[in-house]
Amino acid sequence: MLDLHTHTTASDGQLTPAQLVELAREIGLDTIAITDHDTTSGIIQAQEAAPSGFEVIAGIELSAEDAGGDVHMLGYCIDLDNAIFQTALEEFRSRRYFRAQKIAEKLAALELPVEWDRIEAIAEGGAIGRPHIARAMMEAGYVTSVKEAFERFLENGGPAYVARKRLSPEESVELIHIAGGAAVLAHPVYVKDHRAMIDRLLPVGLDGIEVVYPDHPPALQAELRAIAQAHDLIMTGGSDFHGLNLPGKAMLGSVTPPADAVQALKARAADYSQHRA
Ligand SMILES: [Zn+2]
Ligand SMILES: [Zn+2]
Repeated sequence: MLDLHTHTTASDGQLTPAQLVELAREIGLDTIAITDHDTTSGIIQAQEAAPSGFEVIAGIELSAEDAGGDVHMLGYCIDLDNAIFQTALEEFRSRRYFRAQKIAEKLAALELPVEWDRIEAIAEGGAIGRPHIARAMMEAGYVTSVKEAFERFLENGGPAYVARKRLSPEESVELIHIAGGAAVLAHPVYVKDHRAMIDRLLPVGLDGIEVVYPDHPPALQAELRAIAQAHDLIMTGGSDFHGLNLPGKAMLGSVTPPADAVQALKARAADYSQHRA
């Protein structure tokens, strides 16, 4: 049993890497991939916490953007020591940080001040993002839910929105390959015109598609399976677990990815590592 899309406190998840491994074991999983946003800092801790027979795959989730909106790219079996990759992640994290500060400034100008210390405390040392700001706004009583904070203030076009320079979808695939990993298009349900996006990414070597996902209805899964088979793309899946009892978020292990996904990802990543050597 496996789950190939999970987040820890290293980014915006609520369980530490060790707690995530413990929960995974409790519910009977034997393999998880940790795919935190823009950081690999939770992976070693999780691997150290893992007992023998339990595998933690080194993953990442990158945020790319194009005219159609957000495109998330998952990377699997990445080389954690790749300097180019780690430098790029560091830059993404500092862009996130400065962006969050600018959002806080905009909120203050709107007479909705949020304490920066409180935002940092909510993020618990992880990469600060809009969800943390939204929770601080909720605590301050400005909104009644994270959703409302996004809809009224934080989302693209909102009064406290701040744009962030981001990777193109092509660059996100290339960066994952530089780190010797396999690149998989995350949750195509949230990609505007996912068919066109997949076609666009095939020439740069997209390796797979996240077919099984909590918000993917059976018809979409069937369509993605057919696309994957037509283009020899690896089919993966995961719950996008962020923590227990989070409204609108799925439970760890709640979807069943194809059983051969890990082997396929490893084989593909081994190819990239060989070609670089
Ligand atoms: Zn995502
Ligand atoms: Zn995710």
